Amino acid sequence: MTSTTTAQSLAGRTQQHIALTEQYAAHNYHPLPVVLAEGHGAWVTDVDGKRYLDCLAGYSALNFGHGHPRLLARAHEQLDKLTLTSRAFFNDQLGPFAQALAELTGKDLILPMNSGAEAVETSIKVSRRWGYDVKGVAEAQASIVVMEGNFHGRTTTIVSFSNDSDATVGYAPYTPGFRMVPYGDIAAMRAAIDETTVAVLLEPIQGEGGVIIPPEGFLREVRALCTETNVLMVADEIQSGLGRSGTTFACDHEGVVPDIYVLGKALGGGIYPVSAIAADHDVLDVITPGSHGSTFGGNPLAAAIGHEVVAMLQTGEFQAAAVRLGERLEAGLAPLVGNGFDAVRIRGLWCGIDITDGVATGRQVTEALLQQGVLAKEAHGQTVRLAPPLVATDDDIDTLVEAFKTVMAEFRA
Ligand SMILES: *Cc1c(COP(=O)(O)O)cnc(C)c1O
Repeated sequence: MTSTTTAQSLAGRTQQHIALTEQYAAHNYHPLPVVLAEGHGAWVTDVDGKRYLDCLAGYSALNFGHGHPRLLARAHEQLDKLTLTSRAFFNDQLGPFAQALAELTGKDLILPMNSGAEAVETSIKVSRRWGYDVKGVAEAQASIVVMEGNFHGRTTTIVSFSNDSDATVGYAPYTPGFRMVPYGDIAAMRAAIDETTVAVLLEPIQGEGGVIIPPEGFLREVRALCTETNVLMVADEIQSGLGRSGTTFACDHEGVVPDIYVLGKALGGGIYPVSAIAADHDVLDVITPGSHGSTFGGNPLAAAIGHEVVAMLQTGEFQAAAVRLGERLEAGLAPLVGNGFDAVRIRGLWCGIDITDGVATGRQVTEALLQQGVLAKEAHGQTVRLAPPLVATDDDIDTLVEAFKTVMAEFRA
């Protein structure tokens, strides 16, 4: 085989995989044209052998990077011992995991599920039941206050309170019981709360919305309002939590403790779907045998991986890395503000960039970054969000910044 035919057959592999996927997998995503085959740390390799810096990190499911040795070792060990029991029986992994996650969150109890959407659903069910059993809300009247621009998952109930038409059109009838207010508007939130209100559900930073950081003090005001009105504060930390924002939870930035933490994504270490909610007895004790469950939730493999994730977060090293790398990224990107960027929002190693209208769209920027060996994802229209793994190096961050500079110079030319 000549080197020319080798190059051709390699380049052909990407096209083949894309064609096969497009032919047989439903078109619910619009992926960038890259077919990944391997990943280690912050870097992935495609089927043609080209390497990319992964600056999406599975929407923060890969906070610890691809194939972190500690997580892989723990997963391999458990894989050979016991993977699934169902909750019809106890297993020897769930108790220690639950204890560790309860300690990390400072809560009495956890309820394990699998996907993030299931954990959000769990928080909604728990809040409603708490409303009826504890607060004394009239039967079937419970209301939950949610934010404009939210993203909480894809179930029928969750999309019922999304204001993103892409996510909602064609899925009616929608689940009632939700009231939407502008993100960051405490007066509107106060006006939306009445005696039927059981919970305020919010992301402490809106991830899919474009890494939208609320006004300083907002989370503290929400906490105070919820306490005053006897409403549960439910923080969806599925994407913002577990180190991404430079603290264990994004609520920590304002010293706020919600009544319910909703966790997922990085809790599974990028290996396995693991989600959970965490709350105190006065809230989570409303759940009784048979009232909620999951075949896979709390299984030994999930619990072993989740436990290792919690142990890794307890050292604080990943939170510290997010702060350090985020500052480096912010300094590197600053010269582009006014030079192709309208704004850069950053908290920890989590960044939303608004591309100046007319320079390029978010999608065009991610396509150009791909050519530079950087994987990123647009949020809405003009926004690109960055969430490199927290195991990225200073050099990796510099690589990302240089790629952005090259790309933006091309668009401005
Ligand atoms: C990703 C995400 C979810 C949904 O998680 P899935 O595992 O995709 O169901 C919910 N809330 C937030 C804030 C998320 O980022």
